[in-house]
Amino acid sequence: MGKKVIITGVPGVGKTTVVNEALKKLKEEGIEYQSINFGTFMFDIAVQENIVTDRDQMRSLDRAVQKKLQQRAGQAIARIKGNVLIDTHASVKTPKGYMAGLPEWVLREIMPDIIVLVETDDDQILMRRMTDESRSRDKEGAKAIAEHQQFNRSIAAAYAMLTGCTIKIVTNADFLLDRAGQDLADVLR
Ligand code: AMP
Ligand code: MG
Repeated sequence: MGKKVIITGVPGVGKTTVVNEALKKLKEEGIEYQSINFGTFMFDIAVQENIVTDRDQMRSLDRAVQKKLQQRAGQAIARIKGNVLIDTHASVKTPKGYMAGLPEWVLREIMPDIIVLVETDDDQILMRRMTDESRSRDKEGAKAIAEHQQFNRSIAAAYAMLTGCTIKIVTNADFLLDRAGQDLADVLR
């Protein structure tokens, strides 16, 4: 049986970077994980159906459309065998409020062993978003980012209740990527 680990964090916290760092360390020990991105699964379906042209447009789509894409992505991901690391969001900030990234029907398909929350100081996230030219990140202040991170902790508790998974908090502080990668690798071993 493979391990299913879900990795979450607000946009710009550096999830993908921490994942790459951890997987590099594990590879040296002969431990393999397939790393996949939930948003990419959704985006590929959305592009096929001519719904969006940019992945950052998805969180502003009608809720029903987002849920449909989310459900189809969840079903596809649930079929993947072996050790899987799923890069996604505990909650998605939409114009109509926070949407659960892992609602009950998605969680029951995937049944993760561990959910990781990648966090850091709100002002560090603000700076990272401002300097990321590759994405259309939401423009929001440190207070809004703090609220989103708090909400993610709350909803993660609900996910633990539904699945019996553990919740691991990994801090990705400026200049301490090595530490974050190590902390993530520790739960993946
Ligand atoms: P990312 O590249 O991780 O920022 O994801 C791109 C986009 O995919 C996000 O802005 C969301 O619109 C969507 N997305 C990713 N994961 C989920 C999820 N679990 N539930 C709903 N939407 C998601
Ligand atoms: Mg990412």
